[in-house]
Amino acid sequence: MNAPSLLRNARLPRWLLPADWPERDGAPVLAHIALEISRVQSVRPASTDAALPANGWDLAGTLVLPGFVDAHTHLDKAFTLPRMKEVQPGLLGAIDAMLNDRVHWSAGDVHERASRGLQWAWECGTTHVRTHVDWWEPDTVPLAWPVMAELAEEWTGRVRLEQVSLIKLPLFEDAAQAMRLAKQVKATGPHALLGGFVHSTNWSENALRNLLVSAQAYDLDIDLHVDEELNPSVVGLQATARILREIGFEGRVVCGHICALAAQPEAQAFATLDAVARAPITVVSLPATNLLLQDAVTGRTPRLRGITLVKEARDRGIPLLFASDNVQDPFCRLGSFDPVEALGTAALVAQLDEPFDNWSQALCRGDWLQRAPATTPPTLVGAKADLVLFTQADRHGWPSRSATRVVLREGRVTHGDATPFLPR
Ligand SMILES: [Zn+2]
Repeated sequence: MNAPSLLRNARLPRWLLPADWPERDGAPVLAHIALEISRVQSVRPASTDAALPANGWDLAGTLVLPGFVDAHTHLDKAFTLPRMKEVQPGLLGAIDAMLNDRVHWSAGDVHERASRGLQWAWECGTTHVRTHVDWWEPDTVPLAWPVMAELAEEWTGRVRLEQVSLIKLPLFEDAAQAMRLAKQVKATGPHALLGGFVHSTNWSENALRNLLVSAQAYDLDIDLHVDEELNPSVVGLQATARILREIGFEGRVVCGHICALAAQPEAQAFATLDAVARAPITVVSLPATNLLLQDAVTGRTPRLRGITLVKEARDRGIPLLFASDNVQDPFCRLGSFDPVEALGTAALVAQLDEPFDNWSQALCRGDWLQRAPATTPPTLVGAKADLVLFTQADRHGWPSRSATRVVLREGRVTHGDATPFLPR
């Protein structure tokens, strides 16, 4: 009974259903999801009451989502907080604490901590994790980099792991060195991306251009930490969109954080978002760390929220994902590698309407990290039967009470208790 052939009366989110899907009382009607071997064979409205086959489950309205993508994590830093002494508040204080922790890093230490993170991601229903890896030297690959490549291999078939070189912008100041960095990343394999840390403390348009051009030369996708601050005069995102256009970049570029948009005059922020919408840019918002690290001063209650303009980005058709970011390290003492937690935080901090029916796609649209995001509406039909069933939540309160789950991987239960669904 661990591999059902039919999930009857599943409640799917509106974004995952075709436009002509019937509604009742302002909500999509329930769905019958037929599974065959490891894939979803069909999704049909549950209006006609199909007989429940012997190996079918009756979900009785249980909320169901596809497996998650956690688009921005730091597996190399995870779980380092317990061994640190004092951490100064704010982003730059956390970076200092992290530098001091580097004496403890060995391949074994990184492997142990990152494996724990992947295990937690696996248990909560995530199928795709992207991790950034701190990269400090121009000519030396950091110790954690090959460990992530090893883990990507170890977790093949369970969690797809991508790794991004998190390189501070000044290392791209020299064009030849930028090319060498891109070459090293490319040599890691197709799951590796070129990344950088773009912040007013290290701003250089020349270095950013070299980063983007070197990625283009090596046919790499890009993932940047951009404008993770509330300084209204920063131009990282704006410059990224402009340079991508100038060089005709055809890969996919993820811009994470972009908190500064929330601090800029609206006309300026909206003009930047308009340019982002015309570029191959996906936005990733990290609400937990933004709340913790922005407007952070010891002994003073923060006044500003730090989250970027997520509604205005979505209104412009910009692909937008929420993700975990740091977990139990100096940047964020909380966290569990469960992207649903990120959405729960975002729902409050950004006052999101309909977290389940609308915004849950910001946890599930892995295609938004790819070069050619889907242009047709997303569907479960034909996809791997990687599904998460929220056995105690309802659509009004979700993601409250979402901790208890049944996770199906390729149609088989890998986590949780499915006995309530079994025929009696
Ligand atoms: Zn980050």
